[in-house]
Amino acid sequence: MAKFDYDLLTIGAGSGGVRASRMSAEFGARVAVCENSRVGGTCVIRGCIPKKLLVYGAHFADEFADSAGYGWTIPTAEFDWGRLVEAKNREIDRLNGVYIRILRENGVEIIEEHARLVDPHTIEAGGRTLTAETILIAVGARPGVPDIPGREYVITSDEAFDLESLPKRVVIVGGGYIGVEFAGIFNGVGAEVTEIVRADTILRGFDQDVRLALADGMAKRGITIRSECVVRGIEKVNGALSLRLAHGEVLDTDLVMYATGRAPRTEGLGLEAAGVGVNESGSVAVDKYSRTSVPSVFAIGDVTDRVMLTPVAIAEGAAFAETVFNDNPRAMHYGDIPTAVFSQPPLASVGLTEDEARARHTEIDVYMSRYRPLKHTLSGRDESTVVKLVVHARSDRVVGCHMLDMDAPEIIQGLAIAMTCGATKAQFDATIGIHPSAAEEFVTLREKRPQHPARAVR
Ligand code: NDP
Repeated sequence: MAKFDYDLLTIGAGSGGVRASRMSAEFGARVAVCENSRVGGTCVIRGCIPKKLLVYGAHFADEFADSAGYGWTIPTAEFDWGRLVEAKNREIDRLNGVYIRILRENGVEIIEEHARLVDPHTIEAGGRTLTAETILIAVGARPGVPDIPGREYVITSDEAFDLESLPKRVVIVGGGYIGVEFAGIFNGVGAEVTEIVRADTILRGFDQDVRLALADGMAKRGITIRSECVVRGIEKVNGALSLRLAHGEVLDTDLVMYATGRAPRTEGLGLEAAGVGVNESGSVAVDKYSRTSVPSVFAIGDVTDRVMLTPVAIAEGAAFAETVFNDNPRAMHYGDIPTAVFSQPPLASVGLTEDEARARHTEIDVYMSRYRPLKHTLSGRDESTVVKLVVHARSDRVVGCHMLDMDAPEIIQGLAIAMTCGATKAQFDATIGIHPSAAEEFVTLREKRPQHPARAVR
């Protein structure tokens, strides 16, 4: 008789947990996954997928407006927020079903309960005590809201996906991925949007040229970005919300959404009981194989706060399954992870920003082009495409690619492959472009930007 009930018990059926569970089962493990919400996790249920559907929905406003320059006359377009949310929910339900099916078809048992660690091989889920040789924590993260007066009046992205009606005025606090993406969504569907950012501009950590160009583009669309601005408190006044800003200024609005980062979801998980160590930020501490301080307990994805991106959680889940159940130890490589912000227009990036490259290497060449995309010569839209390459001068290796453009995420994904292969600027130059496209800019950049003194990394 087996010593444990299962070979693997996974806590959390999000992108990472599902991949790890499914692969481990394929390798012959007896697997169960505990999930106290809906199978699919943040990405599928209240993150990447519904967000991108809302981004598509919002983008139609641009298409209708831009079509006039191409000869179309469109009667005044009308938008129904409720219909978009309903359609989005139908697709999320379908995907939830697909994820459940994937697990079941691979022989993974789904336990629809909150699970808590009891000891290094035992969990308690819905009153049942279950044991496993290996336990995988893949519970993700949840939005964090700072402790300010009036915190109870704000929503986060979790609620934004299912708002019953579209508010007239929206204030978004936070200038990261979620803040910028939702600013574009709410603006696109007709709300008056103010984004409050405590830094000098949005998207700290991205290349300065593309973040400034995006902020400029957002402003042209009517989004007000209040930089170096701090919210002191929020009050409800006659059904509306009133934000008290630093310096005594007051800003009235109908909805306040906080997008100020996500915190690992470790409360009530029994980490202490099992002896699992955490980092200062509260995330689960792991080694390069995602093993925690307890040898039988592993953790992957957002709960480890390494890189909070779905494809990273999936890759960590796959590496875990290979390591533990396929006798093929695999450590995740965190270099050159491409990423995109689905703003309007989107921004995408892989590798080092110019500032990071200058801080790391003495000789850096920068190639950049900013221009109005061909589509907008007729649409008349005042929007720029930015294409930027950062090159390590001595080795000629391309160390950073950055782009602001309607097709940036699709283009940067391909360039990430080139960078993973160690492509040089000479190899970019030797590549024939696809004409006319925005992508071809990356293989036709010839003018080095004049050197300037290294700036501090922002
Ligand atoms: P981010 O970490 O991206 O951004 C948080 C923002 O909130 C920053 O502008 C930060 O400012 C600001 N902030 C933090 N604390 C405070 C505070 N106390 N008061 C005011 N402002 C504050 O977090 P998000 O919530 O946007 O997203 C969470 C994570 O989810 C992302 O890091 C990303 O990994 C992932 N994600 C990825 C997406 C994608 O791939 N497209 C989409 C959505 C999320 P400052 O810069 O000054 O610190």
